[in-house]
Amino acid sequence: MISIKSVSKSYGSKIVLDNINLEVPKSQIYALIGPSGAGKSTLIRSINALESIQEGEILVKGVSVHSKQTNINQLRTNIGFVFQSFNLYPHLTALQNVTYAPIHVKKMRSHDAETKGKALLASLGLEEKCNEYPGQLSGGQQQRVAIARALAMEPQLMLFDEPTSALDPEMIKEVLDSIRKLALTGMTMVVVTHEMGFAREICDKIVFMAEGKIVETAHPEQFFSNPQTERAKDFLAKVI
Ligand code: ATP
Ligand code: MG
Repeated sequence: MISIKSVSKSYGSKIVLDNINLEVPKSQIYALIGPSGAGKSTLIRSINALESIQEGEILVKGVSVHSKQTNINQLRTNIGFVFQSFNLYPHLTALQNVTYAPIHVKKMRSHDAETKGKALLASLGLEEKCNEYPGQLSGGQQQRVAIARALAMEPQLMLFDEPTSALDPEMIKEVLDSIRKLALTGMTMVVVTHEMGFAREICDKIVFMAEGKIVETAHPEQFFSNPQTERAKDFLAKVI
């Protein structure tokens, strides 16, 4: 589903992605973890061309993401992206946030988009919140609306960049539960997270990054019980 081939990126003399190679197969869930500044956000954002790259290539379903020939807006309709900071449209209700792209980008009929949007919000426990504005919702509720909004486009791939790190502890669980449910549907996902328990429980692979490099890629059991590198041991000693 995702092929990352020899990808590098620098800001001036600072290398932020250093020859990254990674394959994410369909229906697999990969966690990107590592210390602050490792390049996790830069890498996940480059998968749908929110970041440019200087060397290498990223393919999503065989389409070269950064190629000039690629219609990036078209490609992005296939990729859901959920940010740390929700990024909902503040002047639209929860339901309007969810139906906006299906109506305006996919040209779906309003009535159909609304029926589908309501069902999606209900599946995320938000049936009562369809007509509320983001400012009237808790952080956890806003993040679930953001997930519903991404899913409304029927993406084949979901990317999450620290979806719970702006949330209070009691709201983290409701968002993680929503992502867990999504995992059961066979969605392909890449999740940047600091929630190690969650990563261990639902992810097929842990990708550990530090200083712009992938240091270690392993099954969760292997990674958490027997990390192979000093860098990963160090990191785990600090976060667990
Ligand atoms: P965190 O866990 O704190 O979110 P991260 O692993 O997501 O960290 P990135 O945000 O990808 O890290 O940043 C990687 C490196 O790139 C950092 O050293 C950061 O300072 C640098 N960086 C990111 N954006 C820019 C920019 N626009 N200009 C210069 N340096 C940048
Ligand atoms: Mg980040």
